[in-house]
Amino acid sequence: MEKAQVNEWKKKLPLLEQLIAHEEVLWLNPLMESTTTGLSKTGVTVPNVKDASDRLKRFAPYIAHVFPETKASNGIIESPITAIPNMKEALANQYKVAISGELLLKEDNALPISGSIKARGGIYEILKHAETLAIENGLITTEEDYVKFAEPEFTRLFAKHKIAVGSTGNLGLSIGIMSAKLGFDVTVHMSADAKQWKKDMLREKGVTVVEYADDYSKAVEEGRRQADADPSCHFVDDENSLDLFLGYAVAGERVAAQMKARGTVVNEDNPLFVYLPCGVGGGPGGVAFGLKLAFGDAVRCFFAEPTHSPCMMLGMMTGLHDKVSVQDFGLDNKTVADGLAVGTASGFVGKTMEPLLSGCYTIADETMFKLLKLLADTENIRLEPSALAGMTGLVHAIRGDVKDANLANATHLVWGTGGSMVPEVEMNLYYGMAGK
Ligand SMILES: *Cc1c(COP(=O)(O)O)cnc(C)c1O
Repeated sequence: MEKAQVNEWKKKLPLLEQLIAHEEVLWLNPLMESTTTGLSKTGVTVPNVKDASDRLKRFAPYIAHVFPETKASNGIIESPITAIPNMKEALANQYKVAISGELLLKEDNALPISGSIKARGGIYEILKHAETLAIENGLITTEEDYVKFAEPEFTRLFAKHKIAVGSTGNLGLSIGIMSAKLGFDVTVHMSADAKQWKKDMLREKGVTVVEYADDYSKAVEEGRRQADADPSCHFVDDENSLDLFLGYAVAGERVAAQMKARGTVVNEDNPLFVYLPCGVGGGPGGVAFGLKLAFGDAVRCFFAEPTHSPCMMLGMMTGLHDKVSVQDFGLDNKTVADGLAVGTASGFVGKTMEPLLSGCYTIADETMFKLLKLLADTENIRLEPSALAGMTGLVHAIRGDVKDANLANATHLVWGTGGSMVPEVEMNLYYGMAGK
């Protein structure tokens, strides 16, 4: 972007000055509208999400069979919602705000199979691809028991098919682990910032890992180029995939059932605020979309991004979506937050969420480390740094006088997006980073 254009935007949007100065800011979306009209503007429908939910149910017996850790939930990959009252008190002290509502944590850090939010969309897309191939080749019908997917004739079919993905880490883990289990020939294109232990873990499971010196966009671009040249290769497109989005969106009905089970009422008088760490946007976008389907106007969704990588906020503020990067505004896209180091947001997600998202806010790396330690000390829950980005959402909402945010009967749900796969030594290093 030209310097003159950047200056024009700064004049139009005063918040940009603070964003460029790496300040932690809240942006409220002026294009947000009622859920009914908002949903009607998107290209995604209720039957689309129902189809994804039904497919995950068909695969549940297979998942329970090949991933014994999902036996207890009958092959449904889901995480608990946990009340964190001690953390609420610690946040109130730390930020000197009175917090009236209840604070809950959605523990996607504890999702089985790949320990992050990516176990939703990533695994779903691979299962859908496997189902399509199996049906096309006459190996199964949707009426049969999907435990059959573990049989050798399926593995032999999938071995002839390739899967590729570009990833900063967690998407690579979920795609790699699921694809390898089904028997696919899978390659993960990883960016320079991807952790060594993630590469090691994937290679151990038989996944091909290709490393790039450049950032995430480069890894995606290279992966896409190689996959396009090979018709037997399915490329998981983190920036544009409807299937990923739908896999994430199934979370909406699951959260609705969990809220009901724990007796948490969600309606216009008892609003639900949800804070979701955002990278390229598919995970938080899909989840927020599913929540809007489940709760309508009663749910208010916010995306959280690192101060050095606020790509979705920039895309939405300017309306330029994927035509603008954080680098255009002099930001370096350097952050410790795995999965959030993204310079350009998904255009598909940005446009889909434009009428539905309440706002975005930014968080500094130091704050993530501080909150990581605080959550571990107060609740004994260990999340990876990026997963803490949701934790300052309620502080922003209350300080920013967001409507209903400080109602006594509001519920604040922080989406803890990952953590259980992080090796203990790494986690201890993160823990030690607070205050450094
Ligand atoms: C990927 C990821 C996110 C964000 O998901 P996007 O789809 O990239 O927006 C957030 N937290 C963690 C831990 C992740 O791995």
